[in-house]
Amino acid sequence: MSGDLIQRRGLMLVLSSPSGAGKTSISKKLLALEDNLTLSISATTRKRRPGEVDGSDYHFTDQTSFEIQINQGAFLEYAKVFDHYYGTPRAFVEDKLSNGQDVLFDIDWQGTQQLNELMPEDLVKVFILPPSVSELEKRLLNRAQDSADVVAGRMAKAADEMSHYPEYDYIIVNRDLEESVAAVQKILHSERLKRTRQIGLSDFVKQLRNSD
Ligand code: 5GP
Repeated sequence: MSGDLIQRRGLMLVLSSPSGAGKTSISKKLLALEDNLTLSISATTRKRRPGEVDGSDYHFTDQTSFEIQINQGAFLEYAKVFDHYYGTPRAFVEDKLSNGQDVLFDIDWQGTQQLNELMPEDLVKVFILPPSVSELEKRLLNRAQDSADVVAGRMAKAADEMSHYPEYDYIIVNRDLEESVAAVQKILHSERLKRTRQIGLSDFVKQLRNSD
């Protein structure tokens, strides 16, 4: 066995933030840069926005199907956000983690709390803050995918969402996209080296010690 083949369990990298803090842009860049990282695609009952692709941005579904899946235990976690259901499909995540693949989650604080109860050892929790309220508002308006009412509602909720930052391990203030992506990469690379994730370590060290 060589050192770079040490077996490792995948980790769960959670990115949370108020809407408009830049989390989706950070996720997309990160996924393009990191081979061993896959996005957990959530199911949701909210309407598809222009440009969003079913099965790629979300699994878009209706309330009845979502509730059936809740009863079947198909979600690792689920929550109501802005009056719509959002949930993380369980089977996909469990499969990736057991194959040593890391999984990225774009979920809110409610989902993070649930995952924290279920799998605290696997979880790495990162919270993204906007650099200022005016910047947050600007980003929400620029996105122009939601109606003015929806934007106002999201601004009102942002303060509440941000109050959950102490529940996270790492905080990134998103002043610059490239810098924020680099910061998340550093976190990911360090967390991969944690002793407890490297489940093949004891065999590897045993072999190192026996080889002289
Ligand atoms: P949006 O509608 O803007 O795509 O997402 C609204 C919020 O729902 C975001 O904070 C996003 O992180 C969160 N969210 C997306 N998918 C999930 C999920 O599967 N579970 C939970 N708990 N939150 C989610």
